[in-house]
Amino acid sequence: MTAPTAAMQLTVLGSGTAIPVADRFPAGYLLAIGDRRLMVDCGPGTLRRLAQAGTSLRDLDAVLLTHYHTDHCADLGPLLFALRSPLFAGRGPLHVFGAPGLQRLVDTLTQAWPWLAPRGYELHLHEVLPGTFAIADATVTAVPIRHTAQSLGYRVAAANGASAAFSGDADECDELVELARGVDVFVCEAATPDGQKLDGHLTPSLTARFAARAGARQLVLTHFYPECEGHDLRAAAAAHFGGSIALAHDLLQLPVGARGR
Ligand SMILES: [Zn+2]
Ligand SMILES: [Zn+2]
Repeated sequence: MTAPTAAMQLTVLGSGTAIPVADRFPAGYLLAIGDRRLMVDCGPGTLRRLAQAGTSLRDLDAVLLTHYHTDHCADLGPLLFALRSPLFAGRGPLHVFGAPGLQRLVDTLTQAWPWLAPRGYELHLHEVLPGTFAIADATVTAVPIRHTAQSLGYRVAAANGASAAFSGDADECDELVELARGVDVFVCEAATPDGQKLDGHLTPSLTARFAARAGARQLVLTHFYPECEGHDLRAAAAAHFGGSIALAHDLLQLPVGARGR
């Protein structure tokens, strides 16, 4: 087996939104840090993408939820149901992190679907406020983001030096700069093309300006509404951000903090 060339690996599990389209599932991202596996958001369909990416639920250590719109967390129920399978017996605990409301969400889901109660593994729910906490070999900083009342962006810094930041859904706010300051890769929403801005969301130009202010090394634009198709989102962003720019698509893989940087 060859040694990994990156300190951290990012896989886009879903680059879409609440609007169903053929080739983009709603929001979800996988971070591989050594043998640890973290998901950021788990929108509907992203568990299937996780399987396509070759990651078993046996190996999933933690899920970080940015907010509770269904396009960011609706696979939580299917995740908890699947983990009860004898297939995963003996696996380690699953840690789920999110703003206050997480416990109520899981309680409500479990009231509706009693068979979501953990069996054969431990489920740890962590309601987090803005601030820093540790997961496995990483330090995570939760930053309040303007979208819903309690939306959080997450910055994940691995012990090996690699770092990635996730905006979740976001409208313009200075906290995006704090979130992504000097980060190796900034995964930030750009929901609609320039000139078609939606309340609570960004456009490629706005996203790129925040990435530039933050001094992020690489920008990944994501969370594309159908209006984005046919627009040159990269060019719109490149006018405001000089670092490398990627447009997310489902199952896109990117090394983060590659050797020799
Ligand atoms: Zn969304
Ligand atoms: Zn949202």
